[in-house]
Amino acid sequence: MPEWLALYYREPLELTHGEGRHVWDAQGRRYLDFFGGILTTMTAHALPEVTKAVAEQAGRILHTSTLYLDRHMVELAERIAALSGIPDARVFFTTSGTEANDTALLLATSYRRSNQILAMRNSYHGRSFSAVGITGNSSWSPTSLSPLQTLYVHGGVRRAGPYAHLSDAGFTAACVADLKDMLGQTHGRVAALIAEPIQGVGGFTAPPDGLYAAFREVLAERGILWITDEVQTGWGRTGDHFWGWQAHAEHGPPDLLTFAKGIGNGMSIGGVVARAEVMNCLDANSISTFGGSPVTMAAGLANLTHLLEHDLQGNARRVGGLLIERLRAITAGFPVVREVRGRGLMTGIELVEHDGSPSPEGASLALELAREEGLLIGKGGREANVLRIAPPLSLTVAEAEEGATTLESVLRQVQFTIA
Ligand code: PLP
Repeated sequence: MPEWLALYYREPLELTHGEGRHVWDAQGRRYLDFFGGILTTMTAHALPEVTKAVAEQAGRILHTSTLYLDRHMVELAERIAALSGIPDARVFFTTSGTEANDTALLLATSYRRSNQILAMRNSYHGRSFSAVGITGNSSWSPTSLSPLQTLYVHGGVRRAGPYAHLSDAGFTAACVADLKDMLGQTHGRVAALIAEPIQGVGGFTAPPDGLYAAFREVLAERGILWITDEVQTGWGRTGDHFWGWQAHAEHGPPDLLTFAKGIGNGMSIGGVVARAEVMNCLDANSISTFGGSPVTMAAGLANLTHLLEHDLQGNARRVGGLLIERLRAITAGFPVVREVRGRGLMTGIELVEHDGSPSPEGASLALELAREEGLLIGKGGREANVLRIAPPLSLTVAEAEEGATTLESVLRQVQFTIA
């Protein structure tokens, strides 16, 4: 196995097929998928409507390029624009979340005629040169030679540094004061702030209620745009809302919204939504060779239709709520578990050593043990010590129960090993 591949597990797992919330490996073992690819399988593995849409479109024409119209692309763009909550919205399709964020940066910096961007500490926005330049954690950002001038804002990492022991209100006030101070000390104008409503790779951490709304007020007064990165939090995953930004909606919709991952159910779709005046500020913004490719658009449309018709957002709220309650109950007496947190079907379990320090070893061990017991989960966090649970949104109560029982056994063993 090539060493440079960033694979989970000591012995890489080769998956051959999936169905519903399950996948199978090359040895025929079945796993309950509690990570949905990386939140890419949004509805279910091998969803018949998506498979049919892909096969039919592949049989007609594979690619037309964005020089020509494609019925699925137009319809999907219209539906996403209507769902986005952004007035007079326009949609531009890309092939990944990274490219979506790059496009959002291109638009925001051009519209505001500035290359200054605010990003959150502990953020993750992708792997391109500009996306790593707004990613606020050095382990995910291999260079600091960004084409952008990025200023990192507090609010992303609650427990680090001098903010560690503040109340929610105190933390929010301190972060807002810091933001204002930073803006007062900054030469030139800032184009935009980009933020994940819940930090994904950063360990499923959310700011306290009211923090983003307070930020928006400060930024809106200065004409600074708000970019919401919904690559992980979109499509109802957080249960209570269709988009993560809606949990912080006191000051209305964002100026730009980026999406990817789940909408294609595994097909490569990304995109950016923006008000028409922002989207149209570039003359040359209309070409992306593979963005909006007909096969992916057919898949996205079938997948979105299924999601809405089966109210999978409601399912994420109900089943996600039960799962988090169950996990909290199971882990209540486990010193290895610092916190179980999340919204909808986006749940993080933060692991610590007996002295309270982060436990990346515990998280790696938990992944291995879970796999042995037929459960696939993810990990992340600033210190790589958070288990990430984000199954397809069609998860059943019985499957949630099954996964929680496996995690109880896994965490018991982790506790025994690292304590
Ligand atoms: N933004 C967020 C919040 C992400 O979690 C990711 C990927 O994990 C990206 C952007 C980049 O998306 P992609 O891997 O499709 O380029």
